[in-house]
Amino acid sequence: MADVVEALIRSFGTGSVVVDPEIISSNTVDWTGRFKGDVLCVVRPVNSWQVQRAVEISRSTHTPITTQGGNTSLVGGATPVHGGIILSSLLLNEIEIDTSSQTARVGAGVTLNALNLKAKEWGLCFAVDLASRDSATLGGMIATNAGGIHMIRYGGTRQQLIGIEAILGTGKLISRMEGLYKDNSGYDWASILCGSEGTLGVITKAIVKLIPVPKHRTVALIAVDTLSGAIRIMVDARRRFPHLDAVEFMSRDGLELVHRLQGKKWPLGEIPVYSLLIEVAGDVVEIDELAEFLDDHNEVVDAAISYDGQAEGLWYWREQHSVAISRAGIPYKLDVAIPILEMPGFLNYVSELVELEYPKVRVVAFGHLGDGNVHVNLLNVGSPDDEIEHEILASVASYGGSISAEHGIGRAKIHDLSLTRSPQDIDSMRSIKKVLDPTQILNPGILFE
Ligand SMILES: Cc1cc2nc3c(=O)[nH]c(=O)nc-3n(C[C@H](O)[C@H](O)[C@H](O)COP(=O)(O)OP(=O)(O)OC[C@H]3O[C@@H](n4cnc5c(N)ncnc54)[C@H](O)[C@@H]3O)c2cc1C
Repeated sequence: MADVVEALIRSFGTGSVVVDPEIISSNTVDWTGRFKGDVLCVVRPVNSWQVQRAVEISRSTHTPITTQGGNTSLVGGATPVHGGIILSSLLLNEIEIDTSSQTARVGAGVTLNALNLKAKEWGLCFAVDLASRDSATLGGMIATNAGGIHMIRYGGTRQQLIGIEAILGTGKLISRMEGLYKDNSGYDWASILCGSEGTLGVITKAIVKLIPVPKHRTVALIAVDTLSGAIRIMVDARRRFPHLDAVEFMSRDGLELVHRLQGKKWPLGEIPVYSLLIEVAGDVVEIDELAEFLDDHNEVVDAAISYDGQAEGLWYWREQHSVAISRAGIPYKLDVAIPILEMPGFLNYVSELVELEYPKVRVVAFGHLGDGNVHVNLLNVGSPDDEIEHEILASVASYGGSISAEHGIGRAKIHDLSLTRSPQDIDSMRSIKKVLDPTQILNPGILFE
């Protein structure tokens, strides 16, 4: 194995190959602190040629290579399972904006925030937005097909992608970087690699669509008694506001944790059982329209409406959930998709299961209500409770959902993939993996067992 490090240093120099365990300690543990993985070194290529060379060295020495962007995966996807080396994409960081096609050509290591800062100079932005925007990279977002808070309006990362360059596990460089909106000339590499979690190729560059930065954002924070009530409001809001770009839900447990972070005062009296955050974005501020809409709904217990910069105060309650939960312990994060009308039944099932069988476990549920995406966070899971994760994911399957809505399978859910993908499905995915990564060096132990 040490031969690999020597070969990498010979190719790239010592500055690009980091072996000091202290310096690379943040690369070898995931964002939640749940997953760890030792490696020989972290290599930081600065261009596609160097990525190709690193993949070749790994291939010839049969050394596992785990690609890492911002390391914000919530399923341990960027934490090595079988050692080897980490390939960090962070120095692949060039950005070029093309205003004629309203697209950006980005290196895989560009963070979402960096892209938005650059695009803003032309009044543009990336449509997918996540609370991890300061660290999450475009390469990581493509590899996980990240969803985020504007999914109901613009779709996920796959829908924004019109070009890709990657080094496959075969060592071949494939490039579809013409930036064409329309291109039906055979298999679409961008679609194939998007959501592949680094198991087929290392993404080096991409071309993504941009949208005009909305002039105004109007946000309502709404207290409700039941999740069914929140769903009725969401369904009606989708009909009334074509430019509705976020519908998020939160529960009391999560809001209490967020409150404890900085002691901020919840803006609506008592913290409610459930609350809803709705955002409309467009050319005008829509306070009156939102107020009128809320007046029509007797499910609304209380509400606050704000806009533009001031609306950040309302978003704070939703955006700080992941941080607040992590402060309370090492969470088991179950990001699942459930048919929207089944969501109340599913969450009732989870509460009853925990109450009866796992009384020490604490559940914090929140998520993207508009697209049926629930983040079930489990705190205080001890070794006797190991089965809880599997039991909840099995129930997701029985409700007709998916065990991963937007975070991917990573290493957290590999044993449960067969719950919502058929044997034929998994077998066919493995066949693709065998062809594109014949020596199985890319992200072993991620996505598949
Ligand atoms: C506070 C917080 C909020 C979040 N909110 C959301 C949300 O709303 N929606 C959502 O979808 N996710 C969310 N996430 C999860 C995470 O931010 C996303 O999955 C993001 O896309 C990961 O980007 P990254 O650069 O950190 O990738 P990493 O964590 O480094 O890697 C993720 C996976 O992609 C692979 N990968 C990374 N770069 C490449 C590359 N260049 N080529 C090939 N494979 C690669 C890795 O091997 C790994 O399997 C959140 C995370 C946090 C911490």
